[in-house]
This record gives sequence, structure tokens and C-alpha cells, in this order.
Amino acid sequence: MKELADGVWQLSGRPADNINIYLLGDVLVDAGTVLDRSRIFKQLDGRDVSAHALTHAHFDHFGSSKAVCERYGVEFWAGADDVEAIERGKMVGKVPGLGRRMLPAAPALKVNRALREGDTVGDFAVLDTPGHSPGHVSFWRESDGVLVCGDVMWGYNPFLMRGGVREPYPAVSPDHALNRESARKLAALRPQLVLFGHGAPLRDTERFVHAVDQLPT
Ligand SMILES: [Zn+2]
Repeated sequence: MKELADGVWQLSGRPADNINIYLLGDVLVDAGTVLDRSRIFKQLDGRDVSAHALTHAHFDHFGSSKAVCERYGVEFWAGADDVEAIERGKMVGKVPGLGRRMLPAAPALKVNRALREGDTVGDFAVLDTPGHSPGHVSFWRESDGVLVCGDVMWGYNPFLMRGGVREPYPAVSPDHALNRESARKLAALRPQLVLFGHGAPLRDTERFVHAVDQLPT
């Protein structure tokens, strides 16, 4: 894994940067699909892990969450409005069944702490950024401008594995208009480093702000 900022690591994956998993201090953020389990264990075994937090309830983010919580004996934290979906092993999406056709299902698991704006996770603040899922949250460290934005914006097109910063397809965000509002809220922070659910870490964050500015209102 690679240290991207003080105490912020990105786990390695193949293809690189396609399905991202981060370690913020000793809190694991997101856990890929069910197929990502072994790369997570390989990189986390022997390290201190105190909790596992989620950006949102999609199968490519909480697929290995149950396995992670069981292996390391840690709590699972997720956005309050995604708790029900996670505990039923469902994926929230606009098109019924879309997730199941595209991705292997994630096992249901219990959420120990429902995250809301104002909470802290390590030295990051929790921000409510709904739209791509009802309980989507982002993690923000104001001191050095590090933003973990989940899927509010994508760093590139994860299906084609190329392209610039863009919003997710409308079909994968249950409330596309609300997601755009969340994107504007994040761009207004003027982050210094943006860490996406999909796409490479971005330090030239003007590209992030510009992409958000271009979104239709
Ligand atoms: Zn997503």
C-alpha cells in the first residue's frame, strides 16, 4: 500500500486505482467487492486496524466488509441512511437489480455505528453527501485538505478505465440531482488531495473543482 498523505494509505489493487480501499490512520475505509478480500488481508495483516467505515452501500464498496470485520474483530460504521440496505445485503440503486447484474452481492452485516455529519472518524470529519446512495458519506481532513469522496464523483470512468473526473452514471445514483448538490458541497471545500472510490488519487484538484462546476444545475 502507498502512503498518500500523513497517515493516509491506499491499498494496492489490480487494475490499479479501479476499486479503491483506503486506510485512514487505523480505520479501513471501504472494502471493495467480495473478490477483494484476499488483497485486503494480504495488506492489512500485521497492521493495527481499529474499525471499518464505509462511504456507501454499493456492492463494490462493502463486498468484503463482513470478512474484514470478522477477521480483525472490529466494528463496522456506515452512513445512517444506508444502514438498512447494508443490514439486508441490498444495494441501493435507481434501476432495480442493477447492482446484482453488474456485481457479486455483498453479504449483509450489522452496522455498529451510524455515521452522520459532524461525527469524526480518526482525524477526519464525516460529511453527509447523499444522492449516489441515501446515506453516502465523505471523509474530510481540513488541516491538509484531504478528501475521501467515495462515488460522489469518479476519478475516471471505472468501466472503461479511462477519461477524466466525472459524475457517476445517472443509473447508478438513486438521486442524481441530490448527488450533484453533494458534489458542489465538496468542491466548495477546495480540497488539496481527492481520493475517489474509482480513479487515481488527484492532487491537481482544480480538475475536480472544474468537473463539478461543469455539472448541469
Ligand atoms: Zn457506488
